[in-house]
Amino acid sequence: MRDTQPVYGEAMWHWNRRQFLSTGLFSLLALTERVGAVEPSRFEPWRAGWLDLHHISTGRGNSMLAILPDGTSLMVDAGAVDETSDARALAPARPDASRRPGEWIARYAARHLAATPAKQIDTFVLSHFHGDHMGQLTARSPQSKLGNYKLTGVSDVAETLPIRRVLDRGFPDYSYPGPISDPSTLNYRSFLKAQQARGMKVERFRAGASGQISLMYEAAKHAAFRVRNLASNGEVWTGEGEKTRSLFPPLETLPRAQWPLENPCSNALRIEYGGFRYYIGGDLTWDTRFGSQPWMDAESPVAKVAGPVSAASLNHHGYYDSTGESFVRAMQARIYVLQSWHASHPAFDVLDRIYSPVLEPGKHDVLATDLVEAAEIVESRLSDRMLSQQGHVVLRIEPGGERFWVVVLDSADESDRVKARFGPFNSVSE
Ligand SMILES: [Zn+2]
Repeated sequence: MRDTQPVYGEAMWHWNRRQFLSTGLFSLLALTERVGAVEPSRFEPWRAGWLDLHHISTGRGNSMLAILPDGTSLMVDAGAVDETSDARALAPARPDASRRPGEWIARYAARHLAATPAKQIDTFVLSHFHGDHMGQLTARSPQSKLGNYKLTGVSDVAETLPIRRVLDRGFPDYSYPGPISDPSTLNYRSFLKAQQARGMKVERFRAGASGQISLMYEAAKHAAFRVRNLASNGEVWTGEGEKTRSLFPPLETLPRAQWPLENPCSNALRIEYGGFRYYIGGDLTWDTRFGSQPWMDAESPVAKVAGPVSAASLNHHGYYDSTGESFVRAMQARIYVLQSWHASHPAFDVLDRIYSPVLEPGKHDVLATDLVEAAEIVESRLSDRMLSQQGHVVLRIEPGGERFWVVVLDSADESDRVKARFGPFNSVSE
């Protein structure tokens, strides 16, 4: 752990460097990195061979939609936090509060999946059982027309956009580390049960697997594509075959108060396309309670087997207990996407670690789906360096995976207007 002095010192270093770069050299550099498209305001629909990774901005939780090279679709999380809880700290609802977050996610996904063969969500992966990833049950969550459950988050998405298969960390008994029985998870399980009767498949996410998520339509055409399941419930891929090891001690050796928390149990996965690699790992954390519970750092061991990558979604919304030194050293990502919607996202020292040339000398950029104004004020010395602070963040990887672009789409309405474009970036850095 670093103390506060170097953090401050590095922040000042960035500040001076930023001031220097703003003299015009920076504009030139920025210009050369931006792609001059014919119609810069229009987002080109997905085409066969492209890998598109959409980080959807709703201001209410996480959701990532991946359109794979043959049109297979994968969604990781569909969050919906209660807008009345902690309202002062939340981002504005995007596009607005006239619909629930899950409805906006479904509509966004339907627009972008229109170009794919099945126009549905082939696989939904739930990283873990928290409302900002799954959907929080509130007194205002309406009843589904499809079964005996309420609509929030993923169940709201499935109300209008078919989901063929769900992978989570708990199926079928939902009992690790103890019974998972909070109201939002019980509602989610009622949703699964009703949808299974309608043909949806549900499986447990298998750590270490490299074929549980695969291309469903034209896999033979895209042999360079693969999804590796990295971790689940503290089981982490070893890097050999599909072998895993367990981070957490046997539960019977721990007092109940020290059982693994929900966040370090998150599912993590890596998407690979030629040289391109992308990491997403829910709310994995590195906080060990000042070293007293070392097994609670699930983030570092997962990062070591996941990295280096070309791009990554930051763990736990860049909260203070995530994106540790080991993560930054191992990941070396050119692009970090911050799925943010709360004043605590990200922590100042998280940005400091990412930008620090001491931890990782390469160039790193951060784009947030929604940087809340309070966070922007507190962290302006570092948040000003972000490539983007608001909007849907889309990574578009070219056929074969050698290069990729980052496109930010306006989330103020459903026009999908391009706010900014960056790239191309080489998937494998020099
Ligand atoms: Zn979360």
